[in-house]
Amino acid sequence: MAYEAVIGLECHIQLATRTKMFCGCPAEFGAAPNSNVCPTCLGLPGALPRTNRAAVDAALRLGLAVGCELRPVSEFARKNYFYPDMPKNYQITQYDRPLCEGGALPVALEGGARRFGLIRIHVEEDTGKSFHPERHGDRPVSRVDFNRAGVPLLELVSRPDFRAPAECAAFLTALRRLVRWLGISDADMEKGHLRCDANVSLRPLGQEAFGTKTEIKNLNSIKGVEKGLHAEIARQRALLESGGRIEQSTLLYDADHDRLAVMRSKEYAHDYRYFPDPDLPLLVVEETWIEDARGALPELPWAREARFATQYGLPGYDAAVLTETRELADYYEDLARGLDGKLASNWVMTEVLRAVKEESLTLAAWSAKVPAGRLRGLLAKVAARELPGPLAKQVFAWMRDEDGTVDELLERHGVRAQGSVAELEPLVVAVIEAHPGPVAQYLAGKTATLGFLVGQVMKRSGGQAVPQVVRELLEAELARRSGS
Ligand SMILES: [Zn+2]
Repeated sequence: MAYEAVIGLECHIQLATRTKMFCGCPAEFGAAPNSNVCPTCLGLPGALPRTNRAAVDAALRLGLAVGCELRPVSEFARKNYFYPDMPKNYQITQYDRPLCEGGALPVALEGGARRFGLIRIHVEEDTGKSFHPERHGDRPVSRVDFNRAGVPLLELVSRPDFRAPAECAAFLTALRRLVRWLGISDADMEKGHLRCDANVSLRPLGQEAFGTKTEIKNLNSIKGVEKGLHAEIARQRALLESGGRIEQSTLLYDADHDRLAVMRSKEYAHDYRYFPDPDLPLLVVEETWIEDARGALPELPWAREARFATQYGLPGYDAAVLTETRELADYYEDLARGLDGKLASNWVMTEVLRAVKEESLTLAAWSAKVPAGRLRGLLAKVAARELPGPLAKQVFAWMRDEDGTVDELLERHGVRAQGSVAELEPLVVAVIEAHPGPVAQYLAGKTATLGFLVGQVMKRSGGQAVPQVVRELLEAELARRSGS
């Protein structure tokens, strides 16, 4: 029997706010263990939480970007469970009145763009982090770091709209781009800024009703999500085909060994005894706040990607690469001013991105080194055919290490590649007219004589012309003559 997978995602996005969700402790990553803590995030008796406005603002921006309905009055709830790295024994989250509902994320897939529906986005706090087991002398010990306890998270729950692991990977890639674009999260999966749980079930192809689902927890890379889902789909299919039954359960995926382990049987919502947090007021989001957040939204990545394709005449692939980050898109647009869009795109996608990677630079550091305006000066010369490709690349290499305009760099390195097309064209015509013999030979198919003609033009330019440009001009002029 043919089966179809039904997959839903639950993503946790760690917000890049300065402070934690319900206290003033720094939310930074990498501080000494248990240094960013206070009575509130340690859950000490009598300490009261207060809501971080910047975290709610981040949630509003994401909600607006993906077209959610925003609830003017939402509510924080306690989700009760015991976990050693959660000192209060409950997590403050949102339950039946979340901040954002509905909406959809546009995702580029091989067959074209698709919109994957969302159920909700809500704000909550993170737990601490356990390290175990570790050795302390001859005793195994576990240790807990509460620096992360109380760090703001957004939980985003998708509709079960995915049918293949590759769709989930594309969704996560698009989500990562969006939250970085909005400046609300670093979304570094390795650092746990973006975590993903996936629930998956199989059903006979054509059947409407869902099968029993399992949940795979803590998938910490996009590749891991894809591989973990493939493994779980294969496991369920084998079980169903041998007449077995799927148990509702929570699984952990071990990416290193491509193995799934059952962690626990699945909890249901009522196991958590959710109730409204009596320590926190209702979360009221006034219309002006929403309008401010809407006004602060940048042009969204998919809109900018589509605009790049039309405005600059770029292939879809180029537009996607150039809108990978907002910084890159800004750099490209600055560079492309007054230039051919595709020429600028080619240089960013090959030379600039290669240099950034080779030098392990952020784009901001790169822009400080080679501002778009400086590179534009080089590309303007390429476009005017004053510099052939190889020489332009040499100048680009100098730009990476030295100050100065293109002309200054050429001067400094003793390269006298001068002569615009307008200056060279009369020389080309003169040489062709002065050497009818070689020209006739060339036109008769003896292309080797072109070298002689190039040499003659070079001589007349005082050795300053760029041979490759001369060659191109000669070829064009000779083609015109043979055609007329
Ligand atoms: Zn604190």
